[in-house]
Amino acid sequence: MTVRTRIAPSPTGFLHLGTARTALYSWAYARHHGGQFVLRIEDTDVARSTQESVDQIIASMRWLGLDCDEGPIHQMERLARYHEVAEQLIAAGHAYRCWCTPEELDAMREAQRARGEKTRYDGRWRPEPGKVLPPAPAGVKPVVRFRNPPDGEVTWNDLVKGPITISNREIDDLIILRHPPEDATADLPEAARTLGVPTYNFAVVVDDWDMRITHVFRGDEHVNNTPWQINIFRAIAGHAAALPQYGHLPIILGDDGLKLSKRRGAVSVTAYEDAGYLPEAMLNYLARLGWSHGDEELFTREQMVAWFDGAHLARSPAQWDPAKLAWVNAHYLKLAGDTRLAGLVARHLQVRGIDAGEPARLGAACALFKDRCSTAVELADWISMLFVPVAPAPADLAAHVPDAIAPALRSLRERLAEVAWDKAAIAQALKDTLAEHRLKMPQLAPAVRVLVCGRAQTPSIDAVLALFERRAVLERLQHI
Ligand code: GLU
Repeated sequence: MTVRTRIAPSPTGFLHLGTARTALYSWAYARHHGGQFVLRIEDTDVARSTQESVDQIIASMRWLGLDCDEGPIHQMERLARYHEVAEQLIAAGHAYRCWCTPEELDAMREAQRARGEKTRYDGRWRPEPGKVLPPAPAGVKPVVRFRNPPDGEVTWNDLVKGPITISNREIDDLIILRHPPEDATADLPEAARTLGVPTYNFAVVVDDWDMRITHVFRGDEHVNNTPWQINIFRAIAGHAAALPQYGHLPIILGDDGLKLSKRRGAVSVTAYEDAGYLPEAMLNYLARLGWSHGDEELFTREQMVAWFDGAHLARSPAQWDPAKLAWVNAHYLKLAGDTRLAGLVARHLQVRGIDAGEPARLGAACALFKDRCSTAVELADWISMLFVPVAPAPADLAAHVPDAIAPALRSLRERLAEVAWDKAAIAQALKDTLAEHRLKMPQLAPAVRVLVCGRAQTPSIDAVLALFERRAVLERLQHI
């Protein structure tokens, strides 16, 4: 058996962190077993799906390096197939047409609520031996419902949660195919109007079957859908066919202990890319959020693939920990090559309207500052001082630039105007100034830092000054 996994996002927004983690696990599981990973776009929610979202999802997957072997496969391009399977199910007695209007369904639910019952479809169009169905009303487009087995139970051994059993009495005959309302059809492909649009639980099964998916990882919220899906799967593929194995991953909680949600902070992969996180850090962090390999906290993508065999998946929700993510990112920032970082920082500077000029200079700056940063944005914060004037805080000026230091700063400035512009010559100019004015480095360097860099602490001042253009240093030292 070839392992085949998939990620099946709905293109109704950016790639959510939870979906990215599911994609990562699905991808790693396929890669671990030498299998295949499929990207399927579940775009049947026609009112909310957008091409922009599809593009964002694909870009985020690419950014994370989650390469797929097949796809993107769009469900809206497979409408004929869902229609065909729905017809087969009707012919085989596994599905039927239902002419209930939305008003009738509302009334049905209302009456059930009034009787204190659980709301569910009452089976009024469900064919039964000996039952006479009413004549189909004119002018109503029927939906297709799955004829769920009335008794028995559905059991599966969840890859994450272990054995789960749900009684068929708990679940009703769900709609598997419907025609979109007339007023919503303007932008829809012709096939949606003529063949109808499948619901999630139906399309997902047809696709998992057609695409020979062997393992389904997805969010916890789908546990309740799985019994329907297993029943539909058996109706389509027969009882002898191997079901996919399902693994439902617990939700991710925000650092406030509530479900990670857009309302309370960044939840999209794109937002983290924009905030200066590296894809390898995101992957490493997301991997550990719900899975472990011993005590390993930092590992490469290759190690993850080697280790990810579906075991050690956490059953309880993981908590999003921004401080840990920053720590992981800082680790990868240190490992990242300076040329690569220079490219990243140049883009972040560009967003601020700063043209960073030559890449070599930017690379040297990255090398000097990256140890102090957690994100590429912080790195850009440091490096921007090379290009835009700084505004030292009055408190820093008062503390580090006393009037008494002015003569030394003036002679340093004179020396710096003359020397060759490199770290060694700048260091010599500093030394000579200290000797001339009988000062120690801790009296002079903080003043230079505050005036030139706008902050009292920096890496070694000679190395920092060498990154600047001479002109900028001379100009900033003059403001005393
Ligand atoms: N489109 C569904 C979602 O985004 C996919 C669920 C599944 O993997 O079956 O939640």
